[in-house]
Amino acid sequence: MLHDDLVGRTLAGLTRSPWRPLALAIVALLVAILGGVTAHRLAVQTPGAPTRLAIRVSCDPASCALAESLALDVWSEERGPGLPLDVVVTDRQLPLLAAAHVRWEVLVPDIDAAAREERDRLRAPTAARPGDWFGEYRDFTAIADHLRELAALAPDRVSLQAIGASVDGRPLWALRIRGRGANPTPMLINGTQHAREWLATMATTCVADRLVRDYDRDPAIRAFVDRTDLWIVPVVNPDGYQYTWSSDRYWRKNRRGSEGVDLNRNFAVAWGGPGSSPNERAETYRGAYPFSEPESSALRDLVMREHIALHLDFHTYSQLVLYPWTHTATAAPDRARLAAIGDRIASAIFAAHQVRYALMPGAELYPAAGTMSDWVYGEAHAQSFTIELRPKGSPVRGRGGFVQPPRQIRPTCDEALAATLALGQAAR
Ligand SMILES: [Zn+2]
Repeated sequence: MLHDDLVGRTLAGLTRSPWRPLALAIVALLVAILGGVTAHRLAVQTPGAPTRLAIRVSCDPASCALAESLALDVWSEERGPGLPLDVVVTDRQLPLLAAAHVRWEVLVPDIDAAAREERDRLRAPTAARPGDWFGEYRDFTAIADHLRELAALAPDRVSLQAIGASVDGRPLWALRIRGRGANPTPMLINGTQHAREWLATMATTCVADRLVRDYDRDPAIRAFVDRTDLWIVPVVNPDGYQYTWSSDRYWRKNRRGSEGVDLNRNFAVAWGGPGSSPNERAETYRGAYPFSEPESSALRDLVMREHIALHLDFHTYSQLVLYPWTHTATAAPDRARLAAIGDRIASAIFAAHQVRYALMPGAELYPAAGTMSDWVYGEAHAQSFTIELRPKGSPVRGRGGFVQPPRQIRPTCDEALAATLALGQAAR
C-alpha cells in the first residue's frame, strides 16, 4: 500500500510537532489526494481483502477530517458538534489513526461477518414464520404483498397504488389510509430513501399495519386516521433495497448506472450545495440535476398533487428528530414552531420505551443540500421532519450500525408510530 507507507512516514515526522492540528489536516489532505475518490466507494469484499470494520470516532475537527479521508464509507448521516463520526475503515488503516492520536471505539468489528450472519439467519426456515411477520426483516416482494393484504383488510379506508416506478421499473408502492372525517389533513410518511436502512423499511411498514389493524380497537389511532389523509411509502428506493438483499448489504443509493444516486441529495432545494457530491462514486452523489431520478420525482409529484401538509422521512440511525433547514445554518422562518412540534414528537417517542431521541435543526449540523425534508418544507410548505431511528450506536462491540437484531423492529415501530401520531396531533 504505497500511499499508506507515505502517510505513515509523514505521520511519524509530525506527531511530536506542536502543530498537531495542522499536521492532521496535512495528512488528511494527503490521504484524500492519494486515496482519491476510490476511498469513498465501499466495494464488495473480495477474498483475502483486509477486514472492514465500523468505528466511532470521538473527534475534534482535525481527527474527523483524517478519519473521513481514510473512510471506505461514512455511516453518520448527521455531523456536528457533540455528534460522533461513524466510518468504515480496514484493520490495516487503524495504525494510521493510532499514530495520529485519533481516539475511536469499535461499532462493528467485522461488517462483512455481521452481514453474512444476518443473511444466514434470513435463509433459515424459521425466518419465514408467518405468525410473526415483524419478528424478522422482509424483502421488497414480501413488503409489497403485506401492503396488499392491509389494503384488502379495510377496502373502505385503505388502498394501495403505485405512485411511480424505480430506475429498474419496480413499483413505488404507496398505501393510502383515509378515515371517515371531513377535510382530513394530507400527510406523508416514507422510509428507505437509503437502501441499507432496513429498520426504517420495517418500521414504516409496521406503522401502516398498526394504523389499519388497530383502527377499531384503539381510539387514538381511530381519531388520527379519521382526521388524516395518510400516504405511506415504506420503500422509496426498491432497487437499492433489493440490492442490499442480493449483493451488498451496505449499499445506500439507488441503482442508476453502476454507481447510483443519493436520492436524499436529489431534491431541488439548494441542490448542488454543501454536503452533496458531484462525484458519481461518492455516497452522497446528488445526481446529474435536481429530480433526475424517478424515485425522487415520484415523491415530488405526490407531495404537490396531494398538497401534503405534514411529513416524516424515516432513516436510520442515530436517534434524532431533525427539522429544517438542513442545507444552511440560517434559521428557517418557522423555526420556533418546528422546534415546538419536534419537541412533542421526541417526547412521544420517549414515552413509548423511554428511549431518548435528540431534537435539533439540521441547520446546526454539517449541512446537507438537496434533502427531501428541506424541499417538502421549503417548496411544498409542509411541516417536515427527518427522523433517524434506532440505534444510537452505543459503543458496544458488534451492536452499532445498520445491521440490527430483528427484536429491534417492534420497539422501533412503536417509536415511529408515536412520532406519526404526535405530528398529527401537534399540527392541529
Ligand atoms: Zn438515510
